[in-house]
Amino acid sequence: MESIYNLSEDDFKLYLNNLGEKPFRAKQLIEWIYRHKITSFDEITNMKKDFIEKLKSDFVIDSLECVKLQESSDGTKKFLFRLHDGNLIESVLMVNEYGYSVCVTSEVGCNMGCAFCASGLKKKIRNLETSEIVLQIFMVERLANIKVTNIVIMGIGEPFDNYDNVIRFLRIVNNPLGFEIGARHITVSTCGLVPKIYEYSDFDLQVNLAISLHAPNDEIRNELMPINKTYNISTLIEAIKYYIEKTNRRVTIEYILLKGINDSMACANELCDLLHGLNVYVNLIPYNEVIEKPFKRSNQSDMRIFFDVLKKRRINVQLRKEQGSDIDAACGQLRSKQMKKEGLWGEK
Ligand code: SAH
Repeated sequence: MESIYNLSEDDFKLYLNNLGEKPFRAKQLIEWIYRHKITSFDEITNMKKDFIEKLKSDFVIDSLECVKLQESSDGTKKFLFRLHDGNLIESVLMVNEYGYSVCVTSEVGCNMGCAFCASGLKKKIRNLETSEIVLQIFMVERLANIKVTNIVIMGIGEPFDNYDNVIRFLRIVNNPLGFEIGARHITVSTCGLVPKIYEYSDFDLQVNLAISLHAPNDEIRNELMPINKTYNISTLIEAIKYYIEKTNRRVTIEYILLKGINDSMACANELCDLLHGLNVYVNLIPYNEVIEKPFKRSNQSDMRIFFDVLKKRRINVQLRKEQGSDIDAACGQLRSKQMKKEGLWGEK
């Protein structure tokens, strides 16, 4: 049966229309589900009995099973959830001065195959349903007893590879009667699926875009990110320019600093040349080392030099503060550990 958390306001309106019900019921339903957090349709008091029965026969109010909760000394919490079909996903809650940020998973596994990333150790099994992304927010709020203020779609998976479900998720969490999370407080991160960046440029909500660049040229990027062989850096930069023109919004560029790979001064200068004149903000990310991968985190001093080059050349840049590194917070680490423990990992 379909999860009630799959439906956006428009989906509810369509459903109601097909039943000959009034469209204002959509808002009422959203309030019951997201404000009152009903666990049974019987809790609804302002709708007819036979309509409630109809809801019961069409939808389920489901949840996610929390298998593990790890808490870091800095307050970061990492949740491991089990889905109805047994698959495992992770969500991370970070505490910032501006509120509570949740990093959500968008797919079970990932097909992008980035060389440094733990998520890609296993191929994608399936897309997440919209409801399974919504429920991550719901469960984190409930289990941590907080109100989420910011969302980043930077967990396991490539959100633009599950585009329609992610877009519906964005509409649901943005709904003023539901979670009411401002579009400007939400960031979608992509490894660079160029056609989807164009499509996303026309999306009506003012959600932020982050691009995982991680290299200043095709030679290095081809080695790190297979997607670059399909959409190379110049194609990607064109798409970013289009997005900026279309939306008038600043784009975040993510750049993991990998020791001896992409962290030289030459790389820093090349990155400045590439981004010169673009309305972007560069997030330099200390690498979270992954046991199965050969990559190492750059030295503190090299990271500082890299940062200073960008700063001097007037690129907006920050060296990201690290959170939760003591609790396997890097993409996919907790999931892979649990899969190994449960014998779900297999040989390949
Ligand atoms: N597929 C999307 C979103 C998920 S990854 C994307 O590629 O953007 C979110 C970010 O975490 C990406 O920038 C990714 O490159 C980065 N990342 C993955 N593994 C990491 C690790 N071990 N340490 C630091 N950042 C990592």
